[in-house]
Amino acid sequence: MANETSLFIGGESVPALDGRTTDDRNPYTGEVHAVVAAASPADVTRAVDAAQEAFARWSATSPSQRRAILLRAADLLEARTPEVVRLMAAEVGGVAGWAGFNVMLAANILRESAAAVTQPVGEVLTTETEGQLSLAVREPLGVVAAFAPWNAPVILSTRAVAAPLAAGNTVVLKPSEDAPIAAGLLIAEVLHEAGLPAGALNVVTNDPADAAAVAQALVTDPRVRAVNFTGSTEVGRTIGTLAAQHLKPAVLELGGKNALLVLDDADLDHAVNAATFGSFHNAGQICMSTDRILVHESIAEEFTTRLAAKVASLPHGDPTDPGTVIGPVINARSAARVSELVDEAVSAGARLLTSGDGPTVLDQVTPDMRIFTEEIFGPAVIVVPVADDDEAVAIANNTEHGLTAGILTEDTRRGLALARRIRTGIVHVGNQTVDDEPQAPFGGVKASGYGRFGGRWGVEAFSATRWVTIAGG
Ligand code: NAD
Repeated sequence: MANETSLFIGGESVPALDGRTTDDRNPYTGEVHAVVAAASPADVTRAVDAAQEAFARWSATSPSQRRAILLRAADLLEARTPEVVRLMAAEVGGVAGWAGFNVMLAANILRESAAAVTQPVGEVLTTETEGQLSLAVREPLGVVAAFAPWNAPVILSTRAVAAPLAAGNTVVLKPSEDAPIAAGLLIAEVLHEAGLPAGALNVVTNDPADAAAVAQALVTDPRVRAVNFTGSTEVGRTIGTLAAQHLKPAVLELGGKNALLVLDDADLDHAVNAATFGSFHNAGQICMSTDRILVHESIAEEFTTRLAAKVASLPHGDPTDPGTVIGPVINARSAARVSELVDEAVSAGARLLTSGDGPTVLDQVTPDMRIFTEEIFGPAVIVVPVADDDEAVAIANNTEHGLTAGILTEDTRRGLALARRIRTGIVHVGNQTVDDEPQAPFGGVKASGYGRFGGRWGVEAFSATRWVTIAGG
């Protein structure tokens, strides 16, 4: 039987004001897995009321208490791993290993945020005025609007709320309609159980048809002082524009078209394994997924043949089967979009190196094909032979995106020199494109967004630095 879920406002589970609900479907079976409360803009206002009211209390909570709550939440989340494995299989088609990784990284994000709570909040400055004490002091902003996507739901909802809360803000979180529980209600439940005061974190779930109205109500509410959005570049533009119109700072974590460069001296075993992981982990549905493999032409044939053989052997299908490596894509719309990108390329002359039913490797692609430039966000990758390092850099940079890149070479000096020329927010020398650590700055350049989560960067993004002077006696 399907679960029934509520909005989470002011520390309580409540139905939508007008009583509406929406169905959340299992992407593998197509069955309704949860009946979810569907917020309207009036519910958003209620959630912001609660967050605004909780702000004074939460921002005044002592650092040690705040830290203890975040640390407790990390432990509570880990203790729920078996439940999260079942939830992520049913809600987003995630395999057990991906769900376990979501819990582990989310718990570590909470711990990293807890560590940030007791760091200094400012600096003592020099001053032109004799006897004066001049300080730069970091302070919370108020209510933060947070948007989390479905693809790494536990990680990205935790990331969306942990740094804002650690900095003393309160939050209204709007999860993706494809993961209302794993990208929203779960982390609220865990933090509440860990002792977070009522109203400090509120969650509004919605029907997909209301996404624009709910998002608009949230971002434009005058009490909301900052925004973070993780999702597609297309919706990110809308959210970023709204935030800018209302002069609110925003962290935007958007799509990628990430390149993996395989240089002529790369270790081929490592390259094949790394490319397989980078392209097909979570069925290629990671913002950092390797979308394009740019391989030196002298090794292209051997690399591509071995990659295709490995990819073709990956078990795909039912995410609850422990042997499955690649689960389903999130929904029919996404599956259709990925097939369309592949089919269009094949009919324009690209070569399909796998069966076409399941994980897909293509070569003989050309820049006029959409799959060459558009984010795939599914279990497919293109391999492009390049004549030299310059051509690899040129292709890697010839995209509107700029999230991450990987460079595989045995020569670190050469790898670093290339890394400097690639325009992305993240680059890995000697590894593929997918990696995330809570203490590192995470974010893109160009159309992949702006602002950074992670470490002190995340906390600073949701803080204002105030100049305070105290006159000498
Ligand atoms: P999405 O942009 O389709 O949806 C994100 C959110 O936007 C949802 O909550 C949805 O309700 C809302 N939305 C949809 N239409 C809207 C509208 N017109 N106005 C306002 N809000 C609207 O993204 P998704 O499918 O959930 O996630 C996949 C995308 O996210 C990929 O492009 C991926 O690369 C990106 N992503 C980026 C990162 C990162 O850290 N950079 C991480 C994960 C995913």
